[in-house]
Amino acid sequence: MKFSEQVVLGSTLVKFNSLTFLQHGCGCLIGMAGAASGEIMFDSPEGHERMRTMFPWLFGVRITQCPACNTRHINYATAISCVAHHVEDKSWTFDQALAYIRSIEPGEDVDPPDVVVPVWNRYHGVPA
Ligand SMILES: [Zn+2]
Repeated sequence: MKFSEQVVLGSTLVKFNSLTFLQHGCGCLIGMAGAASGEIMFDSPEGHERMRTMFPWLFGVRITQCPACNTRHINYATAISCVAHHVEDKSWTFDQALAYIRSIEPGEDVDPPDVVVPVWNRYHGVPA
């Protein structure tokens, strides 16, 4: 399931709170996706690490901007957290946040073998 779909599903499971990942029945936008995965329990200390494994694109270093306030962020995860604060103070809607998330998330079928095989071959001296 895509991250954005998990956020939608998680919004039915978790009370929104931009200040917490996934605690006491509440969660931020990223926490909602975690709850929907069924793999992260509330108040789990490993929750953040599981999210990194499930959605590495959220945490990869890339200079990005919050679409609501233009603050610069070091990855999509912190930009999404910033957006969550705007939803919390009602300057942005949940639907706007969702549209932003859909605009940055990668497509479902990323196909790495095209890249991996030639590199492996070159490394092992296999002619192209
Ligand atoms: Zn912001």
